[in-house]
Amino acid sequence: MVQAVRKEPVGVLKISTTGRYLPRAVNLCCCMRLVVAGGTKVLKQLDEIRERAQTAVALAVNLEELESLRVRFLGRKGEITQILRQMASLPPDERPPVGRRANEIKEELDRALSARSEALLGQTLLAKFEREKLDVTLPGRPVRIGHRHPLSVVQEEIEAIFLGLGYSIVEGPEVELDYYNFEALNLPKDHPARDMQDTFFISDDVLLRTHTSPVQVRTLERMAPKLPVKIIAPGKVYRRDDDATHSPMFQQVEGLAVDKNIRLSDLKGVLLTFAQEMFGLETRIRLRPSYFPFTEPSAEVDISCVMCGGEGCRVCKDTGWLEILGAGMVHPRVLAVSGYDPERCRGFAFGMGIERVAMLKYGIGDLRMFYDNDLRFLEQF
Ligand SMILES: [Zn+2]
Repeated sequence: MVQAVRKEPVGVLKISTTGRYLPRAVNLCCCMRLVVAGGTKVLKQLDEIRERAQTAVALAVNLEELESLRVRFLGRKGEITQILRQMASLPPDERPPVGRRANEIKEELDRALSARSEALLGQTLLAKFEREKLDVTLPGRPVRIGHRHPLSVVQEEIEAIFLGLGYSIVEGPEVELDYYNFEALNLPKDHPARDMQDTFFISDDVLLRTHTSPVQVRTLERMAPKLPVKIIAPGKVYRRDDDATHSPMFQQVEGLAVDKNIRLSDLKGVLLTFAQEMFGLETRIRLRPSYFPFTEPSAEVDISCVMCGGEGCRVCKDTGWLEILGAGMVHPRVLAVSGYDPERCRGFAFGMGIERVAMLKYGIGDLRMFYDNDLRFLEQF
């Protein structure tokens, strides 16, 4: 019988009944050497492990750290497993309490790890929201819904009035040939009236149209010699102008009616109907003699002032009248070049600026406001 004696701190001396040396040194993590020396001592060790594990779990700052703690304490080579391996060395009656306690501690640690893991996940999400300045409780931002531009509203009103009078709506190109913009409208090259309509040239013969009148010629060419012709042509036009009442790009509506017995009085009747529908039944119109190369005779058309009703005010400069459009009987030469016999039919034409109509209708002083895209202005319509 051999007896060996070892000193603390390794463990309490014991000699097993089987003759094997006890305690046995056990490798634990942190290179700590523990000595298994009886059930009571093992239970103490378990409680010590439990305490360290609980503290470590509570202090863990991320999920990776939690996982390493799980491996360190509950893993196959973990501290608790190592202790359990020593059970075989204990007297049989001391084993059950150690096993029970070890399992209790394992379950308790498992719960603590799960709870800490959930808490850390929550913190991670909160930190992410904080980083992104995201408040998930905020209500969503509504999408702003736009509305029609005041010029579109006025254009559609004009169209509705003329559709009611039996006119059709026709469109033409904004990039136009010199021929349709000038020549076919009785404005040959070097005609002095071209000076009033300087524009943007793409080449010598291609330009941005200065008025919607080319649509007259294109429509007549297409329809000749059919009668009657009744169209309006709304669209954008361009000129080299830029001030409070002129813009390099603006919008016109052209009107054209051609038939066998069209007279100046028909033109006046149509324009009066339009003015009364647009500005009110009390509106009156007057025609003043004027000049356009493509109409003969030609007239500037005024409406009675929408502000003072004709009595005279600042807007109408005390005249009681506001200029609104140009009109006239279609020049026989324009009819002829487009395929109509001026001996057999006549027509009238008129052209108005949509901005001008909108300015008078809404009392707007500066035409450029339509194109500034200032929502404070646009939202009023
Ligand atoms: Zn007035």
